[in-house]
Amino acid sequence: MIVMKFGGTSVESQEAIVRVTEIVRSYQRKHPIVVVSAMGKTTNKLLEAAVEAGAGRREQALVIVDQLRAHHLVHGLPLAGAASAELDRFIRTHFEWLDDLVKGLAVVGELSPRSMDAIASVGERLSSLVVTFALRAAGIPAQHVDSRRVILTDDRFTQAQPLLEETYLLLKENVRCLAETSVVVMGGFMGATKDGHTTTLGRGGSDYSASIVGAGIDAEEIQIWTDVDGMLTADPRIIPDGHRVKSISFAEAAEMAYFGAKVLHPATVLPAVEKNIPVLILNSRRPEVGGTRITPDAVDCRNAVKSISCKRGITILNIRSTRMLMAHGFLRRIFELFDRYATSVDMLSTSEVSVSLTVDNQENLPLICEELRHFADVSVEHEQAIVCLIGENIRHTPGIAGRAFQVLHTTNIRMISQGASRLNLGFVIADADLEPAVFALHEEFFSELDPAVFD
Ligand code: ADP
Ligand code: ASP
Ligand code: MG
Repeated sequence: MIVMKFGGTSVESQEAIVRVTEIVRSYQRKHPIVVVSAMGKTTNKLLEAAVEAGAGRREQALVIVDQLRAHHLVHGLPLAGAASAELDRFIRTHFEWLDDLVKGLAVVGELSPRSMDAIASVGERLSSLVVTFALRAAGIPAQHVDSRRVILTDDRFTQAQPLLEETYLLLKENVRCLAETSVVVMGGFMGATKDGHTTTLGRGGSDYSASIVGAGIDAEEIQIWTDVDGMLTADPRIIPDGHRVKSISFAEAAEMAYFGAKVLHPATVLPAVEKNIPVLILNSRRPEVGGTRITPDAVDCRNAVKSISCKRGITILNIRSTRMLMAHGFLRRIFELFDRYATSVDMLSTSEVSVSLTVDNQENLPLICEELRHFADVSVEHEQAIVCLIGENIRHTPGIAGRAFQVLHTTNIRMISQGASRLNLGFVIADADLEPAVFALHEEFFSELDPAVFD
């Protein structure tokens, strides 16, 4: 049994969905469970509608819902006949429900995280039905399973965590058997609390759903079908002619994802590692390309650096307290604060009396700074970016930092960190310097390629 996850662009139109049905057909004998994202940019639009409604702008919200309804009715219905009428009805019913919810929110003028999840999940609720009907129309027996029945989560709406033990049990009972005889189709991104409230796993969470399903049914492989040829040596929006990394370890892929490679949700590797299931990244527009295979161990590679990741919109906090000279407890006080405000720190460097750290979530930053100022001086620098060189061999290869900093000798480097995992050499620079820096680093580290690992 395998899991095949198709991202938003892979199901954005009739044409794309036809490609999906042919890819699924080619793997039919492996008993696929198909996990789909919302069609195209539906989730963004749904969240826009939610925000408009929450701000009391009823008409603006309803216009967005109308656009989405039209898109689904045009692109979601590739087939004719009775089945098409049934799907048409399903789509209309979902949008009537959405109209009512949006009107209600606009009256109250308030948007809770719980309502946001109810709205955001509509994209995957619909796309999973659309793909089920498309597979059936192509002669592939398909069954729809509502993910909210089998993926249980805590109640941290918009960022819910799966309750893995219960979820794995439900997946075994409800999905495994069904997949013996039909292609099971599920919506990614969403789950539900034990008392039945819809939750979502955070933006980009359908990859995570796929790996939870894969671990739950003990899949032999988890395939993530997307719009690029695999994990690339750099973000293609910065380096359009980067190289495909054919093979990479779980640890390297996790580090890439965490530091900005949007191609994979950072939590995706966790369930796969736990159950030792390989993850493949593949291009739904070019299924003949081999993609990237993510496995427990890295294959031997002559290049120390496998990929360059970067994360924009980073803020540096410089925290300095001369009162803390020679005193203990400085770091504890700082981290207690970040814990209390549920804000994660990406990178850190310290000296005896000062700490510099980076955050990407700005939501609670003013409150955090206010509290920090009770015991320290704080300065804040916005519009920074983290750049990371990632590769298991970085730890064994002398001179990587030397080469990197030589290349960047005219760039002002604000922080440096070689992570505890030692497969990551990261540094912080101004966002404005990011593109030339990544370009120069890419040229330095990927002008010669080990053909066993790179395309
Ligand atoms: P999907 O909708 O299929 O989940 P995403 O947009 O979430 O697709 O992720 C795919 C995108 O990730 C690519 O189109 C690419 O722009 C971006 N990306 C960023 N860094 C990398 C990288 N190192 N390798 C491949 N893709 C990357
Ligand atoms: N549709 C969701 C999002 O856009 C989940 C996903 O695509 O992975 O965030
Ligand atoms: Mg994605």
